[in-house]
Amino acid sequence: MDQAKSTSLVNDKPIPGFISALQCKCPRCRKGKMFVTRNPYNLKQTLNMHKECVECKQPFELEVGFYYGSSYVSYGMSIALSVASLIAWYIFVGLSIYDNRFIYWLVFNALFLLVMQPLLMRLARSIWLAFFVRYNKNWRTNPPERTERTNKDQMNNW
Ligand SMILES: [Zn+2]
Repeated sequence: MDQAKSTSLVNDKPIPGFISALQCKCPRCRKGKMFVTRNPYNLKQTLNMHKECVECKQPFELEVGFYYGSSYVSYGMSIALSVASLIAWYIFVGLSIYDNRFIYWLVFNALFLLVMQPLLMRLARSIWLAFFVRYNKNWRTNPPERTERTNKDQMNNW
């Protein structure tokens, strides 16, 4: 093995898992991108995913309807964002029972969550997949586990 190649292998440390999840990268190799397009706000392409990781061939659809579960993640993140926006509203705008500032927050928060939705949907899928697929430092040489419960005919019917 030549010098340059062995050096690059030594430096081939994976990025931390939570950063890889935030960047919507494959949890198995932490290199391949999960989504076809970079920008989640290209709405026709928001949930357009690669079938498998371009780097390590990890399938991204582990079973039929796999990403239904990601709605729990998305729900949790929406709650967390709402709490954060309520706290920020309380600090910067204030809340009182004698005026409509709480109503304004409700409207603001609804719009805020709506605007964040494409990003949240992607993050939810990325985090959901990371629950089930572990990092494998030998991803270059070991093939990924094959999925058992997928049905080619029913793909994308969900
Ligand atoms: Zn991968």
